[in-house]
Amino acid sequence: MEKVRVRFAPSPTGKLHIGGARTALFNWLLARHTGGTFVLRIEDTDTERSTQASVDQIISSLKWLGLDWDEGPEIGGEYGPYFQSQRLHLYEEKAQELIDKGLAYLCYCTPEELEAKREEARRQGKAPRYDGHCRNLTDQDRVRLAAEGRQPVVRLKVPAEGETVVDDIIRGRVVFKNEVLDDFIIVKSNGMPTYNYACVIDDYAMKLTHIIRAEEHLSNTPRQILLYQALGYELPQFAHVPMILAPDRSKLSKRHGATSVEEFREEGYLPEAIINYLALLGWSPEGTDEVMPIERIVEEFSIDRVSKTAAIYDVKKLAWINGHYLRELPLERIVAEVIPFMQKHGLLAASPEPAKLELLTKAVDLTRDRAKTLEELVDVVSYFFSDDFEYEEKGVRKHFVPAGAGEILRQAKEIIASVEPFEHQVIEEVYRTRAEELGIKPAKLIHPTRLAVSGRTIGPGLFELVELLGREKSLERIDRAISFIEQELPAQIAANDNK
Ligand code: GLU
Ligand code: ZN
Repeated sequence: MEKVRVRFAPSPTGKLHIGGARTALFNWLLARHTGGTFVLRIEDTDTERSTQASVDQIISSLKWLGLDWDEGPEIGGEYGPYFQSQRLHLYEEKAQELIDKGLAYLCYCTPEELEAKREEARRQGKAPRYDGHCRNLTDQDRVRLAAEGRQPVVRLKVPAEGETVVDDIIRGRVVFKNEVLDDFIIVKSNGMPTYNYACVIDDYAMKLTHIIRAEEHLSNTPRQILLYQALGYELPQFAHVPMILAPDRSKLSKRHGATSVEEFREEGYLPEAIINYLALLGWSPEGTDEVMPIERIVEEFSIDRVSKTAAIYDVKKLAWINGHYLRELPLERIVAEVIPFMQKHGLLAASPEPAKLELLTKAVDLTRDRAKTLEELVDVVSYFFSDDFEYEEKGVRKHFVPAGAGEILRQAKEIIASVEPFEHQVIEEVYRTRAEELGIKPAKLIHPTRLAVSGRTIGPGLFELVELLGREKSLERIDRAISFIEQELPAQIAANDNK
């Protein structure tokens, strides 16, 4: 079989969105699964909307996701350049060829004239399509129109009858009537190629075998096929991957939360989790496992198992998968990932001391099964790095307000001050014995201590927490809680009663 060559062809007009990332991923997976080639091509002929910042963003997001390309920007390749803006001569040359063969022609209609005709068509209840006005101009006509200062576009001659069939790997045969595809523009009046045209020239020149792209492009494909035919090119195989919809089946947009890879990164998602999740948006593995490392996805991937029904984007599932990777990846990796997030929240210095890093490693080890994102992980380790926390309100009501709460904490303080060695098993033993002596349940001692040292009602095992926090810090915080209970709290309650 012919070696697979696939591409991802983003337009650099914004960040890499999850839809784009999923398209890139499916192409990459097919290349890696078959030992083929994955090409990155930047479609930057829309000079008004394309920016260098977007190119940089897209490239950095792809790299971060681990979607490496075999040909493209930064590395080049046999079929470069890989920026369409650097391939304009090619589009010009081929357009001239099509014109010379009588398969395309110059059209001098101005946008105003075209709009007037569309308006007229609408009034008559007809589909507004180009009427072929310039199809049969003579040389004299052209000279005259050019002399009027008109800048022509190039249009492809599309047969008025018959149909164009897209034979899609995922969607099967999709038939388009040619009468709905008018003589479309392939070169704009500013000399720039249109998307459909440049795409065909490049997909062919770059010897791509499969065009895997979003379903949104399906309506472009018959036009592209007409171009392949006019140019005498053999067709590649097409596969249009299903749309990604929001849970309410509407179009995915800002109001559904993060939609770009960069935003997910900033919210503390791991590339492994995003890749794993995106793979499941449209593709389904044969087995029932959903958490699959990339090696296994590569091994099992096939376009035949990509569904044609829309995929529903579910951030809860992404978070669930992310939580899984947070727990399962090597500890050092998670620590390395969380450091910039700690720094962003001012919980860690720009160049942290070794002792702080050791504390972070232990704290992450203790708490990482309680977080779904790196942001959440920062939250669950924060009280190891900052004394500046408040007590959870419902915890205060439950554990600090009841009479005797101060006395309970004095018991805890005594244990923590004297227990030897300061290790969690030993601390636990003494807590349990002391509870028994006092004739109370261990929980009566444990919960108030947790609230005092962490400000929270839930968290990792209290004794591990206290051991890691250290004797001194734990005592300090218990003292602070006692004075809160005995001094601040009564004043607060009195103030509330007077309201
Ligand atoms: N530049 C197009 C886009 O970003 C590429 C579509 C295609 O893959 O053909 O949507
Ligand atoms: Zn015209």
